[in-house]
Amino acid sequence: MDYKALADYLFPDVKDTPEDIDRRFPERQLPAGANVTRIGPSPTGFVHLGNLYNAIIGERIAHQSQGVFYLRIEDTDNKREVEGAVETVINAMDYFGVHFDEGATAQGDNGSYGPYRQRQRKDIYHVFAKLLTERGLAYPCFMTAEEIEAVREQQTANKENPGVYGKYAKCRDLTLDEIKANIEAGKEWVLRFRGQETGETIAVEDAIRGKLEMPRNNMDFVLLKSDGIPTYHFAHVIDDHFMRSTHVIRGEEWISSLPMHVELFNTLGWKQPVYCHTATLMKIDEETGGKRKLSKRKDPELALSYYQQEGISRDAIW
Ligand code: GLU
Repeated sequence: MDYKALADYLFPDVKDTPEDIDRRFPERQLPAGANVTRIGPSPTGFVHLGNLYNAIIGERIAHQSQGVFYLRIEDTDNKREVEGAVETVINAMDYFGVHFDEGATAQGDNGSYGPYRQRQRKDIYHVFAKLLTERGLAYPCFMTAEEIEAVREQQTANKENPGVYGKYAKCRDLTLDEIKANIEAGKEWVLRFRGQETGETIAVEDAIRGKLEMPRNNMDFVLLKSDGIPTYHFAHVIDDHFMRSTHVIRGEEWISSLPMHVELFNTLGWKQPVYCHTATLMKIDEETGGKRKLSKRKDPELALSYYQQEGISRDAIW
């Protein structure tokens, strides 16, 4: 396969090179030891206590070190977007004394590492989607939801790990002509990373949890969805690299995705940020007496707006 030809065919509009992007977002000039952190909420209009929990940690880590704390809007999932959501996040954080130095604002962007809304960064993601394709590390996949479901059923029956990988990745070895024919026939495609089955493990030193050991990624996970918008995984790696984050403070629900992120950082030859995976907020259920996650449906105190409405002082929350 001529990967260069494939990359040119899939990404005819990409003009920038990876070096251009690197020049556009130079290393930050900050005092030694200064940390750069962020929150990356989705613009759903609902700001929850977990957002604040991570924001307070990020804000302190940045500002106690003369660093930068910024707001990035993670709007790759357009189904969930609500108007005015950026203002809602900023106002909610403001009420709790959490202020951003840089990032998305209701009036637009503030800072030189933007755009700070992921949907406006499509051209940047595509430069690296093209690079990975050129290197034979990414390929277009035409599998339908039904085909993926059938694979999953087969894997469950065989007691194998679910997912698109190895022999289950049906589009891995399509020829350039087959790919062109599919695209010309109007078939939708996503761009998948070509995972490697090595059986190796990886180790990440989490600043909260210590050493996390996990199997190395072997999945052909999705980098770009069929509308050309990246998945969280691809956007996280590119954005935190080029916005020059030093620490990624996020909920523990992301730990299971870490092998994909490590694989991307290594493949692209970039230094990983320090990961800080925070605990999920829990409460004692009044009925059962057991511990459980806070739920949007049952627990009004999960919404930050609740504290403002009830007039609860921000100090009580900190
Ligand atoms: N958009 C992600 C979320 O809301 C952000 C996770 C992160 O901070 O990387 O969970």
